Formats: sequence, C-alpha cells, structure tokens
Amino acid sequence: MDAKTKTVTLQNWIGGEWVDAGNGETFDVLNPIDDSVYCHAAKGTGDDLRAAVAGARSAFPAYRDTLPKERERWLLRAAEIMEERKAEFIDCLIDEIGSPIGKANFEFDKCLTMLRAAAGMCRNMRGETIPSDAPGKFSMTIREPLGVIAIITPFNVPLIKTSRLVSNALALGNTVVQLPSEMSPHLSILMAEVYHDAGIPAGAYNVVTGFGHEIGDDLTGNPDVDFVSFTGSSVVGQHINEVCAKNKTPLTLELGGKSPTVVLKDADLEKAMPLAARSIFMYGGQLCIGSSRFYVERPIYEEFVKRFSMVASKMGMGDLRDPSTVIAPIISERQRNRVRTHIEDAVKKGAKIAAGGEWEGNRCQPTILTDVSEEMTLCRQETFGPVTSIYPIDSYEEGLEKANDTEFGLSSAIFTSDIDKAMHFAKHIGAGMCHINGPTVHDEAHVSFGGNGESGVGREGTDADMEAMTELKWVTIQL
Ligand code: NAD
Repeated sequence: MDAKTKTVTLQNWIGGEWVDAGNGETFDVLNPIDDSVYCHAAKGTGDDLRAAVAGARSAFPAYRDTLPKERERWLLRAAEIMEERKAEFIDCLIDEIGSPIGKANFEFDKCLTMLRAAAGMCRNMRGETIPSDAPGKFSMTIREPLGVIAIITPFNVPLIKTSRLVSNALALGNTVVQLPSEMSPHLSILMAEVYHDAGIPAGAYNVVTGFGHEIGDDLTGNPDVDFVSFTGSSVVGQHINEVCAKNKTPLTLELGGKSPTVVLKDADLEKAMPLAARSIFMYGGQLCIGSSRFYVERPIYEEFVKRFSMVASKMGMGDLRDPSTVIAPIISERQRNRVRTHIEDAVKKGAKIAAGGEWEGNRCQPTILTDVSEEMTLCRQETFGPVTSIYPIDSYEEGLEKANDTEFGLSSAIFTSDIDKAMHFAKHIGAGMCHINGPTVHDEAHVSFGGNGESGVGREGTDADMEAMTELKWVTIQL
C-alpha cells in the first residue's frame, strides 16, 4: 500500500474494542505536503467520549491493582514493539503530519526514551513516614493513582506527547482516554495497537478520534474524569481551564510560546548559528518551544543577521524523506493563512525581510525579519511557522527586559561566555525553561517541561507527572 494514499479508515479504540463512531461518520485526514487524503478516521461523538470515559472508569479498579512489575514489563515491551514497527511510525510521522525524516527519527527516538522512563516510574510510587506529635501514633502517606486521566494532544509532536503523557499515566496505575488532534489520529491509533500488543489490559487506554472543538467539552467536562492533561494553543487552553473549573477537575496546560533567545557580544557565533537555526526552523517552526524572538547585542547585530540569513537560505526544502530536508509543510490551510498574514502584516508595517518570505507549495521558506515593531501582529503573537525576528539591543540588561516583555513564558536561551550574566538570566527570565549556550528547543523524559502565563499551568515529565497524576493519602496507626 502506498503510504501517501492509505485508504484505511481508523476506528475508535474503546474498552479494548475497535468501534466506529456512534453515528458512523468519518472525516478525511490530509497529508500536509499536498493536501491529498492520507486516511479516513472515525468522527467521534460526545457519546463516544462518554463511552470511553465509562470504559476507563470500569477498567480502573482492576488496573490500579496491577503490580509495578507488570506495568513496567508492559511499557518496556511497548518500546520493543515500537522498535520492531519503526518503519510504520516513521512513514506515519512523514505522511500524516509532514515531518521531515530528521524530525521523524528524532521524535521516534524520544518516544522510546519516554516509554522506558515511564517504565521506571512504576516502582517509584512512594509515600513517606512522618513523625507524629501524638504518642504511639505511626503516621505515613501512601501514593495512589487519581483514576481516569483525559489527555488531549496537538498535531506537531503527537508521538512524544502520547508516549510521555499516556505512558506516565499508565505507569502510575491510572486509566486513560485520549483525544488526539484531528490532524494526527493515526499516530495515536498505532500507539493503541502497541499498548494492546504489549499487554496493557483492555479499557486502560482508550482513543477517540474527532474534532476537539466539537466534542472536547464532553471529555473535559465529564465529572468522571479525574485529571485533564491538555497540550495545544493558549486560546483552547483558556477554554479548557474554564470547563474544568466547573467540576474542580485538576489539570495541566501545556500551551503556546514566543520564546526569546538573547545573544551577547561575547557569544561564540560559530557554535551559536546552527543552534539558533534549530531553535526556529526545525519542523518548519511548528514547535511550541521555537525561538521566534532573537535579541542580539549591537556590536555583532549586523554580522548575526547576515550569518543567520545565510544559514536560513540554505535550509533543505526537498523531499521529506531526504535527510537534508528541514523545512516541513505547514499543517493546514488555516495555519498557512496565519503564517502568511503574520508576514504580510509585518512587511506592510515596515519590517524588512532578511531571508525567506516566499512559499514553495505548502511550505514557507525560513523567514527572518528585522525592524519589527510593537504594532505588528507577530511581535507578540505566536506564528507557529518558520518565522523569526531579530532585534538589536544595547546591553545585556536591555536583552533581559525585552525577553521578559511577553505574555508567554515557555522556553528561553542565552548565548554568552559570561557565566555570571548567563546565570543571572537563568534566574530572572520569566520562562519555565532556560538553556545557556543551547537552543530553546530541548526536551528530555525526566525533566520538568512547561511554562508560565499564556504558556500554561503545571509541568510534565516523569517527576512532575508523579506529582500531578497521583495523590497522597495520609494514614495513621495508633499503636
Ligand atoms: P489546538 O489548540 O488547535 O488543538 C490542540 C488539541 O485541542 C487538538 O487535539 C484539538 O482537537 C483539541 N481541542 C480543540 N478544541 C477543544 C476543546 N474545546 N476541548 C478539548 N479539546 C479541544 O493546537 P494545535 O494547532 O493542535 O497545536 C499547536 C499549538 O499547541 C501551538 O500553540 C503550540 O505552541 C502548542 N503546543 C504546546 C506544547 C507544550 O508542551 N507547551 C507542545 C506542542 C504544541
């Protein structure tokens, strides 16, 4: 079967059964490189989500009592099965969401480490003993799973998000209902096959494919959901926050960004340049932690713009299966319009294009803008494309102030050889993550990943999810 023209129709995975959408409807999933039909997927309904939550609820009592060594074995086996099926996953990452092969391999490898790190959590669900003021009382906490976890994932790194969040939830004895992006349902369906074949019991993991803006409230507003993990745009995150508040459902929100990179005059430009390019052009800039603002000290500003523009103009835009290709198609017409409008608006209001600005099919060339000012939409809003702005600064202090002048607070970076300034920046930047002499784009399974303000609430990662997806119960024994 030609990977680009799969005619399969994906079904929902509920309670260990493949089922059509309740009303039998399906929708087309498009390959973003040329908008051809990649596959069809069940157009899940609110009732489908309610059935999935009910399935996860009824699976929970038995699943929570599974042994750590069983969950550990299932998750490690899932990683093995994925390795056996690597070619399918890579094809899917390329044809369903337009990942260049380098990004597809990167995401696939990350996914394996996420699964294995999750397996390591199973034996670490620990409480503690607590000294008691009451004579003869033995006091302790025990850590328990929360119950049913709703996981809503975006299109851009669907495998990383599924392997991390779903696996962490399952490792801790929770059951899961996932609503993947309508633009990447196949990757979650492949994961459902993997989890099932690895031995995860029926009902512990459920997937409903469909349109979040139509049916999402039936998941996040369901009183039988004990925790919501949402990754996506800030606008949708705000809505979900409001829906969850009604039932007091705890949640984490991993949202958008406008991540800054400050480059001081003592930076090693030779080393910084490829890292700067990775920060914004990987997967065509469709990464939440992409750096869409560069603040460069004036003595090296011209040189930085020149070199960065040169690097940008050489970024591969060929076949997605060619390892030299970096630039991905923008996922949908709606997103393409956003990227187009942001560039046009900036240019109309006086911004200069130092590199790129043109389109090749559904791909926007890596674009660097200078002379960007406040009244331009992209100055403050997330573009989510291969577009960045470079601003001159007169001092480190000005760079820090400008970097902090944003509603977002996800990732950040500084390039300098001055350790004092670097550490000062790390302490004073209002972002959840800071990389010194490294790109804003970085993630590992066990770190606390996440941001502040418009970039979200809470953190994810093995340690953070241990806190978020379990609760401590205080138990005493009067001896
Ligand atoms: P999106 O907000 O459009 O959609 C994300 C998910 O939310 C999809 O599955 C969608 O179906 C669902 N959804 C939409 N309305 C909903 C509702 N009312 N209830 C429940 N679910 C609903 O985002 P996207 O375009 O898929 O992804 C891009 C965005 O995600 C960018 O803003 C990016 O910065 C952000 N993102 C953040 C992180 C992070 O970890 N902080 C990681 C990846 C992407």
